[in-house]
Amino acid sequence: MYDYNDRRPSLPFHFAKNVDTNEWVSVYNVPRGKNTNCYCPVCGEPVGAKNKDKSLALQLQKHQKTAHFYHISKSNCDPSGETIYHLVAKEILEKSKRLFVYSPYEGYSDLVGKTSLVVFDEVIIEKRVSDQITSIQPDAIGIKGKSELYIEFKVTSGINNQKREYLERNKIDCIEIDINEARKGCDPNDIEKIRTNITQLLENGRKNSFRWVRNKKLVKHLKFIRKTEEEKRKSAIEKIKELYSEIEALKEKFWLSDDDLK
Ligand SMILES: [Zn+2]
Repeated sequence: MYDYNDRRPSLPFHFAKNVDTNEWVSVYNVPRGKNTNCYCPVCGEPVGAKNKDKSLALQLQKHQKTAHFYHISKSNCDPSGETIYHLVAKEILEKSKRLFVYSPYEGYSDLVGKTSLVVFDEVIIEKRVSDQITSIQPDAIGIKGKSELYIEFKVTSGINNQKREYLERNKIDCIEIDINEARKGCDPNDIEKIRTNITQLLENGRKNSFRWVRNKKLVKHLKFIRKTEEEKRKSAIEKIKELYSEIEALKEKFWLSDDDLK
């Protein structure tokens, strides 16, 4: 079985799109050189294939690079496998609008939250949003009624601090879905299987791949608990003070000393 992790730290540019069908095509399924009839899914430029004498079944020699697509004309665009998996996940979500969302309250025994398949009214992909300080580009924004949920797909690196601070400042709900699980054990030639796995991951959910980056209801709830506890503590202290002053009054009334009360 082909193992992604064997070859190089970042995933190779394995998939491009067919010019005629717009479907994903594996580098192993196109002719070598420039006549692939494929374009780069990131910049749209034509791509060639470096796949001479390579197949999934063959082990690479140490000096050999794995098969990959390349831009035919000079380009600054350098899509990695990570970019491709992101694209696939975004494409699927944009089309299906379906996402299994775990309750942020899971794990809190005293709270019952709703864990369910959400069907968004709309999913917007890679929209740049900004505030006065910075701008960020979430992978996807799911919109349902008046609520918005930012969705990040993780392949290798997770959400960065700039994004996190943006969410915090603007009080935006965000989840992160690790899509690594969807490509584990997959033959990279089999884009359909990868698509099926990603679809299943998005629609059926997988708890270990799902994480709330920020959830305003949860923040509100924790604030509420904290406030209530603080109030309980204050009123308990008040009661103890009252009790002590009552004791002092009784001591005086009945000529009692501290020793008598020991
Ligand atoms: Zn490109």
